[in-house]
Amino acid sequence: MRPRASADLQDVIVGGAVLTAVSAALYNGLKGEPQVCDLCQGVGGARCFACEGAGTRESQETKKGMTGQRRDIIGRVANPSACKVCGGSGMNLCSKCRGSGYV
Ligand SMILES: [Zn+2]
Ligand SMILES: [Zn+2]
Repeated sequence: MRPRASADLQDVIVGGAVLTAVSAALYNGLKGEPQVCDLCQGVGGARCFACEGAGTRESQETKKGMTGQRRDIIGRVANPSACKVCGGSGMNLCSKCRGSGYV
């Protein structure tokens, strides 16, 4: 009687590897081997240098602005102290891979 357990485990490992490769290929528009972006190391961006990832400019005005928040047309809270560099996201998208982490 053959040990079925190890054979089944191997099938699972191979199947998982194929699925990962296919997903990566689709993600990159089937343009060949996915390469981890060397500019951002695959992270897709970097913490904003201007606000250090906070998304807002640290200022004395911030606390005063917490009351009477205005919302824009899609319901986002307009943040008058949002970082101008990252637009309040706290991240600067990588200029090479545009945030995907792969090139
Ligand atoms: Zn990148
Ligand atoms: Zn910023």
